[in-house]
Amino acid sequence: MKVFISSDIEGTTGIVAWNETNLNSDVGDYFRKQMTREVAAAAQAAFDSGADDVLVKDAHDSARNIIPTELPQPTRLVRGWSGHPFCMMFGLDSSFDAVVFTGYHSAATVPGNPLSHTMDSGVANLTINGIQGSEFLINAYTAAYCNVPIAFVSGDDDLCQFAKKLIPAIQTVSTNKGTGNATISIHPKTACELIGQRVQLALQGNLDDCRLELPKTFDIVAKYKEHQRAYRSGFYPGAKQIDSTTIQFVTDDYFEALRMMRFLV
Ligand SMILES: [Zn+2]
Repeated sequence: MKVFISSDIEGTTGIVAWNETNLNSDVGDYFRKQMTREVAAAAQAAFDSGADDVLVKDAHDSARNIIPTELPQPTRLVRGWSGHPFCMMFGLDSSFDAVVFTGYHSAATVPGNPLSHTMDSGVANLTINGIQGSEFLINAYTAAYCNVPIAFVSGDDDLCQFAKKLIPAIQTVSTNKGTGNATISIHPKTACELIGQRVQLALQGNLDDCRLELPKTFDIVAKYKEHQRAYRSGFYPGAKQIDSTTIQFVTDDYFEALRMMRFLV
């Protein structure tokens, strides 16, 4: 069994402020370690469930947050950004049996996490077919594009609820519950224990239940914080500016949607 893990930081247990997501700050050092512990728990659970290959994509900021020696052997790790449109899912292909997400967070405008955002901070809002476009949704569709089931997600409570609606059989661990600029989080060690248990539960269950059907067409609306970006993005092939800060892009090929997002959000 081959398992792909994509790991972000803004849904890591206890995180609440932007400087805590920064690799180069003192407070960020603690959270890169907790991010690493959560990924390590998921990777160990994958091996304990019979995986012989686990590939982790460090998918936050510089993509150099995870501490490699803390991962169980023989985990492989993708560091840095390739420039490929798969972005936070780079390294995934149809040879994998399951996708796992750790440290994921709610989409821009969703109040369940003080750090809610979608891709870059200049994006005020992004929807796909009218659904709030979290990074989880974008990357779950990438998994579906590769025909790989989505077994597990950990992150803020609103995101876990969203994931359950999208894929009822998915296993989740809700790390933080956000209100305004605050979060109530579970204990970081409890989070790692639950991640281990539920990743195992998911991988030992019927993974076919965790398949997501890819929509036939993708109507993507991206609203920027600044009008200048919408003007420039309106020149991307197939994109059109629909008001001073908003562009729309419609395609029936998800790879084209990913290519657009690689350049415009
Ligand atoms: Zn993110």
